[in-house]
Amino acid sequence: MTVVSSYPARAVVDLGAIRANVRALADHAPTAQVMAVVKADGYGHGLVPVALAALDGGATWLGVAQTSEALALRAAGIRTRILTWLYSPSAPLRELIEADVDLSVAAPWALAAVVSAARECGRTARIHLKVDTGLGRNGMLPPVFAEVLDDALKAQAEGAVAVVGVWSHFAFADEPAHPTVLAQAVVFAEAVALAEARGADLEVRHLANSAATLTNPAVHYDLVRPGIAVYGLSPVPQVGGPQAYGLVPAMTLEAELISVKDVPAGQGVSYAHAYTTSHATTLGVVPLGYADGIPRHASGSLPNRPGAPVRVGGRTLAIAGRVCMDQFVVDLGPGAVEVAGDRVELFGTGADGGPTAQDWAQAADTINYEIVTRLGARVPRVYVGEPATTRGGTR
Ligand SMILES: *Cc1c(COP(=O)(O)O)cnc(C)c1O
Repeated sequence: MTVVSSYPARAVVDLGAIRANVRALADHAPTAQVMAVVKADGYGHGLVPVALAALDGGATWLGVAQTSEALALRAAGIRTRILTWLYSPSAPLRELIEADVDLSVAAPWALAAVVSAARECGRTARIHLKVDTGLGRNGMLPPVFAEVLDDALKAQAEGAVAVVGVWSHFAFADEPAHPTVLAQAVVFAEAVALAEARGADLEVRHLANSAATLTNPAVHYDLVRPGIAVYGLSPVPQVGGPQAYGLVPAMTLEAELISVKDVPAGQGVSYAHAYTTSHATTLGVVPLGYADGIPRHASGSLPNRPGAPVRVGGRTLAIAGRVCMDQFVVDLGPGAVEVAGDRVELFGTGADGGPTAQDWAQAADTINYEIVTRLGARVPRVYVGEPATTRGGTR
């Protein structure tokens, strides 16, 4: 893909890193298949390019929350297995079944809706029954799971559905030693045993997100569902960074300075003058703001709170003052040599000592997931690291 030169900022996505990260995840879970989770527009990296790269890296399934994302993957010609799990009674179930998308069933209403849609179109819907093993979010608590399991097996006998999976999700996977992790794994094992005792021939039992894929081999089962790690960010930053798990951050967010100017000491900077220069210095303006997903919480005020880090000319500097809708200011320091058009890196691989999405998460008091997924739609995504040879295959 060509560089979008008319826009003064871009997210450069390294598809080679995505492929390598999926391979690394597969190595962490050698007994399981890998479902690359590409929901939320591939965690902000771009749905279809990321999906193709993940498949090149060895993923055999794709996972999305929204049904629209599953259909977008099919519309792009991707033929691999896809699971979608977050839908309401208004979902286009018939279209999904005809598109051969696997459906999560996380409530009694969902089974009834899927069965009637399958009957209408005369197809068998592949379903994954979701048991709430302790997250307390989507999914069926064990007594309801048992009832819906029986109903699903009846519908299977008439050909409306095929119960191919039982699955669940952790509440504390990012704290591997938390007692709920083991407790949820026990409830999950019981749900799987019940399904099998009642005659389900399960193709995939799956429980592990990125954190559990990297830290808890006991719960890999047949399929792991990593998301954030596919993009090279650590799901357990307090335990280890990406390099500890053989992962490389895939997104580099960069911009061009649109203004560089000298200011005197005592210059208030940006809205409400949250930052004031303590000496004569040079300010640079970066054309990205909260409308682009730059957290306003990453603003910087002196002396007590530096903003999120940015890399300019080999120096790591901090956001000065409030992040605005479309722009923010960086104090480049006295006598800075930068000029308009020079490159600013907000975050990237960190390999050269530059800031990472994790550093931004810390500065904005959030998690790395939110930094990448909130990146605005108007920021162009530019893809690098695409192999010349593997495009055009049938997937
Ligand atoms: C988002 C999601 C994942 C992936 O989680 P990560 O922490 O990004 O690996 C896996 N399973 C479900 C149900 C999800 O919603």
